[in-house]
Amino acid sequence: MKIAAFAGGVGGAKLAQGLAHIVAPQDLTIVVNTGDDFEHLGLYICPDLDTVCYTLAGLANPETGWGRAGETWNTITNVEKLGGPAWFRLGDQDMATHLERTRRLKEGKPLSQITNEFCKAWGIEVTVLPMTDAPVRTVVNSDEGELAFQEYFVHRQCQPRVKGFRFDGVESAAPAPGVQEALEAVDAVVFCPSNPWVSIDPILSVVKEVNKPVFAVSPIISGKTVKGPAAKMYSELGIEPSAYAVANHYRTILKGFVLDHADAEMEKEIQDLGFATLVTNTLMNQFIDRVQLANDMLHFMRSL
Ligand code: GDP
Repeated sequence: MKIAAFAGGVGGAKLAQGLAHIVAPQDLTIVVNTGDDFEHLGLYICPDLDTVCYTLAGLANPETGWGRAGETWNTITNVEKLGGPAWFRLGDQDMATHLERTRRLKEGKPLSQITNEFCKAWGIEVTVLPMTDAPVRTVVNSDEGELAFQEYFVHRQCQPRVKGFRFDGVESAAPAPGVQEALEAVDAVVFCPSNPWVSIDPILSVVKEVNKPVFAVSPIISGKTVKGPAAKMYSELGIEPSAYAVANHYRTILKGFVLDHADAEMEKEIQDLGFATLVTNTLMNQFIDRVQLANDMLHFMRSL
């Protein structure tokens, strides 16, 4: 079965790793959100792409889920001592990724090509693609006005109340080379358990149409996120956060929805939205959980 998976950072990377373990490399394409990308300290930073790649390469910090394992912080500490901005924590190893990416971008290479080169260097066999090579930027409309995504997410630690989102630059952004081709070749598309508002929606805003069966995994378990602000965003937008809210979010596009055992009582309500459901363990703390969920999903998708 050929699969394309749409992913943000931490939640997306976990399922991507599980899928990569059981699907042949030529049959798996991960399309990653770049709406969180930004320039900082003169460097071009792609948080979600890097989280997905570090995880697939076995280089990710297992405690945080983002950044590199065994990281040191000498550079950013010294930037701070000089009075520079240190609110976005960049480790020394991670910094090398941003330095080299920025250098290649300045040479005129597109982000998709650089990502491919980095994947080769890191020994990643599946295809990882940024959603677009064009600069698309997620802007958070909040009670404190419009905020660039990382300003809201990291600097302000998601404290402002959200009112909505805008994906700047999306009108003129084409999907990165390989994205449409992958979507035409696959049997199914998986929405990883990523933030629907700021990880999956930006990808959909670029890709626009998906004509293959789509299966989503809920990033919300028992009304809460495992990490990050998705549940807070639903509440602030006047929607009770739940697996049902996520299913309803993707209502027009889904064929199947995967929810956690903890939310089993919502299964009927979700089925009434018109799609098939799978109730399973969706909490992926360990590598084994990621592979298990990927396996469950493959069986579920094949059965339909
Ligand atoms: P970000 O860009 O790093 O915020 O990454 P994503 O959008 O990919 O992931 C954030 C979402 O992943 C949050 O809504 C989390 O609840 C969800 N998430 C993280 N870990 C898990 C997990 O193990 N299981 C499930 N179901 N969701 C998870």
